[in-house]
Amino acid sequence: MKDSARAVVIGGGVVGASVLYHLAKIGWADVLLIEKSELTSGSTWHAAGGMHTFNGEANISRLQKYTIDLYREIERVSGQSCGLHPNGGLMLAANQGELDSLRLICSRARYLGMETQMISLEQALELNPLIDPSFFLGALWRADGGHCDPSGTTNAYVKAARQLGASVERFTRVLSLAARRDGTWDVVTDKGTVHAEHVVNCAGLWAREVGHMVGIELPVLAMEHHYLITEDLPELRGRAREIVNTTDYAGEIYVRQERGGALIGTYEPHGLVWSPVKTPDDFSMQLLPEDFERLAPYFEVGFRHFPALGHVGVRKAVNGPFTFAPDGNPLVGPVRGLRNYWVACAVMAGFSQAGGIGLVLSRWMAANDPGQDIISMDVARFGAFATPKYTSIKVPENYSRRFRLAYPNEELPAARPVRRSAIYDRLKAAGACMGANYGLENALWFAPPGIAPVETPTYRRSEAFPIVRAECQAVRGAVGIYETSNYGKYEVTGCGARAWLDRVFASRIPRPGRLALAPMLNDAGRIVGDLSMACLAEDRFMIVGSGFAEEFHLRWFWLSNPPPDVFVRSAASTLNGVSIAGPRSRELLQRLTRVDLSASAFKLFQVCETAVGFAPAILTRAGFTGELGYEIWTTPDYFATLYDDLMQAGGDLGLRLFGGRALSSLRLEKGYGSFQKDFRPDYTAAETGLDRFVDFNKADFVGRVAALAERAAGPSRRFVILEVAALDAEVIGYESIMKDGAAVGYVTSGAFGHCVGKSLAAGYVPTPLARDGARFDIDILGEMRSATVRLEPLYDPQGLKLRS
Ligand SMILES: Cc1cc2nc3c(=O)[nH]c(=O)nc-3n(C[C@H](O)[C@H](O)[C@H](O)COP(=O)(O)OP(=O)(O)OC[C@H]3O[C@@H](n4cnc5c(N)ncnc54)[C@H](O)[C@@H]3O)c2cc1C
Repeated sequence: MKDSARAVVIGGGVVGASVLYHLAKIGWADVLLIEKSELTSGSTWHAAGGMHTFNGEANISRLQKYTIDLYREIERVSGQSCGLHPNGGLMLAANQGELDSLRLICSRARYLGMETQMISLEQALELNPLIDPSFFLGALWRADGGHCDPSGTTNAYVKAARQLGASVERFTRVLSLAARRDGTWDVVTDKGTVHAEHVVNCAGLWAREVGHMVGIELPVLAMEHHYLITEDLPELRGRAREIVNTTDYAGEIYVRQERGGALIGTYEPHGLVWSPVKTPDDFSMQLLPEDFERLAPYFEVGFRHFPALGHVGVRKAVNGPFTFAPDGNPLVGPVRGLRNYWVACAVMAGFSQAGGIGLVLSRWMAANDPGQDIISMDVARFGAFATPKYTSIKVPENYSRRFRLAYPNEELPAARPVRRSAIYDRLKAAGACMGANYGLENALWFAPPGIAPVETPTYRRSEAFPIVRAECQAVRGAVGIYETSNYGKYEVTGCGARAWLDRVFASRIPRPGRLALAPMLNDAGRIVGDLSMACLAEDRFMIVGSGFAEEFHLRWFWLSNPPPDVFVRSAASTLNGVSIAGPRSRELLQRLTRVDLSASAFKLFQVCETAVGFAPAILTRAGFTGELGYEIWTTPDYFATLYDDLMQAGGDLGLRLFGGRALSSLRLEKGYGSFQKDFRPDYTAAETGLDRFVDFNKADFVGRVAALAERAAGPSRRFVILEVAALDAEVIGYESIMKDGAAVGYVTSGAFGHCVGKSLAAGYVPTPLARDGARFDIDILGEMRSATVRLEPLYDPQGLKLRS
């Protein structure tokens, strides 16, 4: 075995094989894959090999398409067949909600360039005669997808990588990993030590244990999974083509052809965790005992929905384990605090995803940039809240919902509540319908007395619609209070803080007592953060951003090498906050503070440290509603008291609690984008419009070269707000924006603007089309609705209220 390599990939399943191939393909020939047993011997060898492009995240869908398209390439380079059956896919809907969900997939697919369409049940029957159509309402067909041979595919990746110079050591076990001071690694195996610049954890079923080697607890867990292969089916005899791979959401069943019979698998509601604490070292090329007694009721549903399957015997049954993260998406990327340690694990759909994972990870390793937004599969989307207990509850929940289509207004119940602020009980008592963001409970809307704070999952307007309208009207008409504890908060201190921030952020760094809107770019000039920065003293800053991105931003700060005189700390659990907004917010706050809040004394973006009622607080004049408003931050021990003081002081001013839903409506009326939804590492400063906060006069900042080049050339697309002639449903996200029948852009978020009385969509369209009044069409749940660009905010376009 060689004793050094640029990168060591641990694990020879389909994911490790793809990472090896992609590293070799970008020119890293000196890469070594180490596999403790035979290639594929973990969860890969017994997979059903199904592949598809479906994912709730557009970028992951795109990477899944890339994976499927890649198979022809690796077959060509390696000479090894992947055993492809590119049969396409059918998705069956049995109720209105599932039908809506399939229609949304169709609307999204146009911009993604995927051939997808709603078809009749008669057409579905032609593609798969095994279906009993009486159980279903409609179907979606997509051209991409089918299945492949797991072992052939893995070997094709590995052979292709070898052609490009990569090496593979089988039957070699990585025992431990030791970091050297220069950030390189000693990879200690049972056959000797390899010195590597980079290490990649692709250890699949053992990813948790390979994480332990460097002291991290990855949120990953294996579940048992069953499928059956039937005897030959007379119904399939003589057919010219194989049946199309079929997903039955109501039955939680998938079916595809396997030779003359069918393969049927189920994601049952009460799945079994496998090896919850430690994966056995000697588990290799093994299956688990079948448990037909437990699974019979679920397969019986399949035999009802696909009756022919129940009339023949079972040729083979497979029960094997594979891994999941709490939300079912992979864990990919670098880990904060560990230089040159990368993960690519928790991949539950390896044959749809491994290619895309290899692509983005290889780019990331080579250029410090995955090349696109992949936050939905970034390991940094989980923070400290994702403890083993959390993972042990969320993974089975996710498994049981694998084939349930997620509704946009749905909040998953497992592992709740985990993180609670000091006013959680008060908000619940006030009727809060809660969601969880980064493990922290936050209010979505508040049910008035006599109404239960629950919502029917739907793609259309729910019973919360009029309630959210009343919350919006209270904010615009009087004053509202919204808990902001779920924002990401960071303290940056030290004498070097200003200089370091000046390099890391593209914006001007505010002077003491001021706040600035502060975009952060990567080298390619794309948005990695849309934060606000308050300067509390020359050497003390409070930075606030999206709560979901806390670990993502902490990792970004760490990778930006703060010098020894700069201290960066998360204030996630040490600062709680509220935003008060509306024309009467000044009056309310003035009752609790001695700071002169008059318009001329405490202007927009002013900051001070003061007392608000009993609470020592950081007070900023800022907000996300477009109204006169303030954000108040204090420590958790004072937070409930601060809340009580505000509620008491505002009783006669029309003060009303509002939640995240109302905030989404209010911000879109003002045309404000939100990080992770509208602003992501896919878009540049000029595309988002955040270039207005970029200080191009600064001598240097990350992304400056790219941002200047873009400023000279102009952005090719632009973030816009569209007014949509919607019926009973708003856009959700990723729907295609159509012009003359062609998809020219896509939606990033949407809400009903209750105070302007319009359904609103945010999204990107090509710059030449981004004109006020430009007309487009957006397919909302199967109905083409017209959409008109509004370049000026629909509410208070001059910002008079904000500055009042
Ligand atoms: C019954 C079943 C059906 C499935 N059907 C499908 C399907 O239809 N479509 C689909 O896309 N996916 C399917 N899957 C999931 C699929 O199997 C996984 O997504 C995929 O195998 C994950 O691959 P991996 O490389 O991450 O992990 P693994 O295959 O587990 O590979 C990890 C490798 O790392 C090696 N390793 C671990 N620790 C060490 C160490 N210390 N030193 C050296 N080597 C080490 C292991 O030996 C192993 O070979 C199915 C899974 C099951 C169980």
